[in-house]
Amino acid sequence: MGIGVLTMDKEEDIPEQYKELMRKIEAIEKALGLSDIDKIVEDIEKEREIVITEEDIQITPETEIIIKPKAYLKLAKHALSYANSFIPKKDWIEIIGLLTGRIKNEETPLEQIIVEDYWPVDQGDAVSVEIVDQKIFTEIFHKKDSKHFIIGWAHSHPSYTPFLSDDDFRTHLRYQTFWNKSIAVVIDPIQISLDDYGLGVFRIKDDKRSYHELTKEVEGMSTVASYESIEMFMKNQFKEKNNQ
Ligand SMILES: [Zn+2]
Repeated sequence: MGIGVLTMDKEEDIPEQYKELMRKIEAIEKALGLSDIDKIVEDIEKEREIVITEEDIQITPETEIIIKPKAYLKLAKHALSYANSFIPKKDWIEIIGLLTGRIKNEETPLEQIIVEDYWPVDQGDAVSVEIVDQKIFTEIFHKKDSKHFIIGWAHSHPSYTPFLSDDDFRTHLRYQTFWNKSIAVVIDPIQISLDDYGLGVFRIKDDKRSYHELTKEVEGMSTVASYESIEMFMKNQFKEKNNQ
């Protein structure tokens, strides 16, 4: 399901660098079983019978960023796959990916960005996603769902807390050049606990010298529910690896 975006109508129209990127995303999603998250989120939602109505969202106008459980779980799992208690700390590496979503109540006091999905792009020492052409990127994701577009990026800070480093700041400035409302999500997978998502969502201020943290919530999924789901996921992942 998660890789359906790779099915292109006119593949020859897409520059090679983007094809390569989409292949990387597909490979990581497959290797980490990230597309299984659809099923898990379905189960969580069924179990808790969560009904989010338009009214629920509108009475909390102070929440600027709504993160769908699917996007959060994919990001958390990608980050945890490369930095967790089963791996020696010296071998922990960072991960990076793209966020797709939509904007709601645009240009009103109730404006919110809805983070619908996370696309794992890379992991390693020098992780980056160069968005050279926002238009092409947007078109690629439009193939999946015309309502969604690239709304930002996410990366991990294993054990050193969510914030924007100088490099992160420069990277995000480029994203905000494409779209001023772009968001930078940083996750510290080690910080994830029963009462902490380990997440920070940031945007650079108009002065282009400082940034601020945006208010966010993972829609309909408590920290406890997400922690339990992630813990189970990790156990399965590492159990499978050990049995191979
Ligand atoms: Zn960083």
